Amino acid sequence: MRLLVATKNRGKFLEVKEYLERFFEDIYFLKDFEKLSKIEVIEDGKTFCENSLKKAITYSELIDFLVLGDDSGLEVDFLDGFPGVNSSRWAGEEKSDREKYMLLLEKLRGVPVEKRGARFVSCMTLAKSGKELFSVKGICSGYILEKPVGEGGFGYDPIFYVPELKKTFAQLTPEEKNKISHRGRALKEVAEKLKGMRI
Ligand code: IMP
Repeated sequence: MRLLVATKNRGKFLEVKEYLERFFEDIYFLKDFEKLSKIEVIEDGKTFCENSLKKAITYSELIDFLVLGDDSGLEVDFLDGFPGVNSSRWAGEEKSDREKYMLLLEKLRGVPVEKRGARFVSCMTLAKSGKELFSVKGICSGYILEKPVGEGGFGYDPIFYVPELKKTFAQLTPEEKNKISHRGRALKEVAEKLKGMRI
């Protein structure tokens, strides 16, 4: 069986590929198919899983592979889960990662450490021929710092502090991050589920 990862992001694709390679004959992403890469799925769900489901269902209706859709983002407790499903869009798509996390820090200015709890969430859905096979969620909890720390990673990594490691996501190597990250945890669950399936 072949798998299509419903993303145009090569980095994300390679991460998924590393975890799930052993289960499939071949793994592709949207940029491997000119027609599919032109299709935009509007991420208008209220939850990460609504969006991952929409992506997986849409593409699995168009290709006879298993399709893995995903959606992820950051939820900040003090802001009632904001920016959540709008993590990449709330400040404007044209804003850089740094501009986005500096704006988020602005919203948390003066908020004490005990109220700065946050989590990264990733939902992944596997679908075939327009039907959901399963969805899983991975969560990584931490705190939002007052200032960015670290050079690595992307998105909100420099402001997200993981207490167990005493580091921000931006201070971790990709391997360290994958072990504990929301996406790493969701992928582990996908692998567990695939082990129990005949595909
Ligand atoms: P998407 O799942 O690729 O749509 O990601 C949504 C947005 O959430 C990204 O653009 C980032 O702003 C944020 N995000 C998701 N995962 C991470 C992460 O591991 N580190 C930092 N930011 C992330």
